[in-house]
Amino acid sequence: AAKDEGGGTHCEYEPSLHSVAEERRVLEIALRSALERNEFELHYQPVVDANTEEVVSFEALIRWNSAEHGFVSPAKFIPLAEDTRLIVPIGTWVMQEACREAARHWPDHVKVNINVSPEQLIEPDFAGTVVRALSHSGLDPKRLEIEVTESIFMRDADIARKALEQCMALGCSVALDDFGTGYSSLGYLRKLKFTTIKVDRLFVQGAAQSSPESLAIIRAVVAMADSLGMTTTAEGVENEDEADLIRRLGCNKIQGYHFGRPMPVDDVRKIFSRGGRRKSA
Ligand code: C2E
Ligand code: MG
Ligand code: MG
Ligand code: MG
Repeated sequence: AAKDEGGGTHCEYEPSLHSVAEERRVLEIALRSALERNEFELHYQPVVDANTEEVVSFEALIRWNSAEHGFVSPAKFIPLAEDTRLIVPIGTWVMQEACREAARHWPDHVKVNINVSPEQLIEPDFAGTVVRALSHSGLDPKRLEIEVTESIFMRDADIARKALEQCMALGCSVALDDFGTGYSSLGYLRKLKFTTIKVDRLFVQGAAQSSPESLAIIRAVVAMADSLGMTTTAEGVENEDEADLIRRLGCNKIQGYHFGRPMPVDDVRKIFSRGGRRKSA
């Protein structure tokens, strides 16, 4: 059947490269108008103190409900937004919206974590975008933590580092997200004094299944973070056993379905009306 493709015949057996490209093109068209059509929404996932289980922050996670395509996962559209640079205006919206909601809907001691892509960081005025989001919302810069992945060091590393240093000079903190899944080079940890290292869910799952390698890696990351003056957050903790293990391994903060799924802002407000602790799962 593959031979017939050139003639435009429908191919039933192999999902062709053409269809992947076509799907992206169709999605890109919808993505271009998503902002002006108000199709994005932020959900927030709690980050808790590993020992007290008190909520210390919420991570903003974008949701897209497209008129044509229904719910599209960020794992699918964020890479597309990055390739097309649509992530720049989308990211500015996220920054403004998350700062505004945090300032308005949750207590002063609780932070907000915002994911930022490399394409945003290398924009000439990234720090200006942050300053404007902070001043429009009235959010204390100390309550903003920017999350980046190791991919920021792949290209234009110096520009990205300078932009993050400007944000840190404002009082914001910076987390290294999904640690251990990229082209991890420990050299990155010398280039920028991250506030937090987020240990990827991959290692949490591994450790929970008693993988000696995962356990050793988490221990090593915790020890390294400690001596570098950074804190650690474990991602993707899904049950009590994993939470206990992670606590014993010495991670400072925990995030995962066990403590709360990403939720609409109205649900965040309800958490504080019952005292800031998680409701038992
Ligand atoms: P991330 O920043 O590493 O966010 C964590 C992802 O893990 C989220 O997926 C979250 O829903 C999921 N997660 C949290 N706890 C658990 C758990 O216990 N088990 C499992 N299986 N998953 C868990 P989500 O919301 O689909 O987002 C995927 C990625 O998309 C994010 O990964 C981030 O890289 C990116 N992203 C999301 N929102 C934004 C945004 O506003 N801007 C940018 N640039 N990227 C974003
Ligand atoms: Mg993140
Ligand atoms: Mg992550
Ligand atoms: Mg991730």
